[in-house]
Amino acid sequence: MSNYFQPEIETMPREQIEADQSAKLVKQVKHVYENVAFYRKKMDEAGVKPEDIKGIEDLSKLPFVTKDDLRDNYPYSALAVPMSDVVRIQSTSGTTGRRVIAYYTQDDIDIWDTCCARAIVAAGGTNEDVVHVCYGYGLFTGGPGLNGGSHMLGSLTLPMSSGNTERQLQFMEDLGSTILCCTPSYAFNLAEAIREAGIKDKLKLKAGIFGAEPWTEEMRKTIEENLGIRAHDIYGLTEISGPGVSFECEYQEGMHIQEDHFIPEIINPVTGEVLPDGEVGELVFTSITKKAYPLLRYRTRDLCKLTHEKCKCGRTHVRMNKIMGRSDDMMVVKGVNVWPSQIEQVLIRNGYEANYLIVVDRENMRDSIEVNVEMTPVMAADASYDVKAAEKKLVKELKDMLGIYAVVKVVEPKTITRSEGKAKRVIDKRDLYAK
Ligand code: ADP
Ligand code: ZN
Repeated sequence: MSNYFQPEIETMPREQIEADQSAKLVKQVKHVYENVAFYRKKMDEAGVKPEDIKGIEDLSKLPFVTKDDLRDNYPYSALAVPMSDVVRIQSTSGTTGRRVIAYYTQDDIDIWDTCCARAIVAAGGTNEDVVHVCYGYGLFTGGPGLNGGSHMLGSLTLPMSSGNTERQLQFMEDLGSTILCCTPSYAFNLAEAIREAGIKDKLKLKAGIFGAEPWTEEMRKTIEENLGIRAHDIYGLTEISGPGVSFECEYQEGMHIQEDHFIPEIINPVTGEVLPDGEVGELVFTSITKKAYPLLRYRTRDLCKLTHEKCKCGRTHVRMNKIMGRSDDMMVVKGVNVWPSQIEQVLIRNGYEANYLIVVDRENMRDSIEVNVEMTPVMAADASYDVKAAEKKLVKELKDMLGIYAVVKVVEPKTITRSEGKAKRVIDKRDLYAK
């Protein structure tokens, strides 16, 4: 039975991890400085020479790189190897603006596949599993990433891509899929379709690997119960490689970051100061092994915290907690910080499912926020369910959670558009940049 748990790497003592990272970092900085003009300029402006970086203790001397830097260098100026060494490009989803593209050499792809193979293993996968990949394929990294990992592990890989839910269910049943890989919002929709088709007992699903968008613990519980599986979080971003930068082990207590390839830091997003374990801030990555598109101190805009505490699984790689949102997901409504995940928590706590849409607007200089949520089929069939009373209860609980008044509309089942990839849960109609 093949197994891609790599204990010699994944359970390495901390001193060794750091010594390995230091050696790789020194080489990587040199590679980048010599081959990428915009880095050379950035480092020169910051007064840092490659020889100033002697190990990870010098990491904070390097300037940050932002998504705008990458957009400015679209399409080819951030490439660090000759074009003849590049075998693939992928692109971000463009969730928050213009797409960014990333390049890979064959070694870069192998690194990425290895990380995804480790993620599948951490979710209990072996070469005896049937891995059902319904992340989108194409430029998006979700499909190709898990596909590559599953191949590397030697599992039977079903390259389903997203959409066509009926066919997903049929293949799941006919081919005995055991591990489901997709966005949590699509997993949720599949669970709904499986319930309606009444085929849950005919399926062999045992685990899910869900990522590419934020999801709450409440959502995890719902998916696990509805599908009868263990749902594992997986994180990644195109700029750093794709899914598999970090993933959850069987204990589901944070995602192990693949420190033999990526060095994480948490910074204060305003001052850039590096924060200690346990403090929430913006996640920053330095990729120390990739060659075509190696990013040094890349600001992800994702918010989370780190812990170096020993994990029960034996892996020594640092863990990040669930992404609490993107710094650009946070909305300021009526002067108060509002996260979609806070709203999701209140809804699920009250028995609703993650079918909701938040609409923010501004009229006469006053912000308004409206939360539309579907009643569940059970609520809809329950004669004693009172929509007005339900809305009133949600308004009160949202007020307690957010500190502001939100209009709540409980709508009929199936009236909010379902997503097949990353869910769009917020429509902000305010033109905040119009001033
Ligand atoms: P885009 O930034 O355009 O969505 P990507 O498709 O590369 O581009 O997606 C990467 C982003 O997706 C991450 O920066 C993060 O915001 C989000 N993401 C990926 N995995 C997770 C996860 N497990 N939990 C929360 N957010 C995630
Ligand atoms: Zn662990």
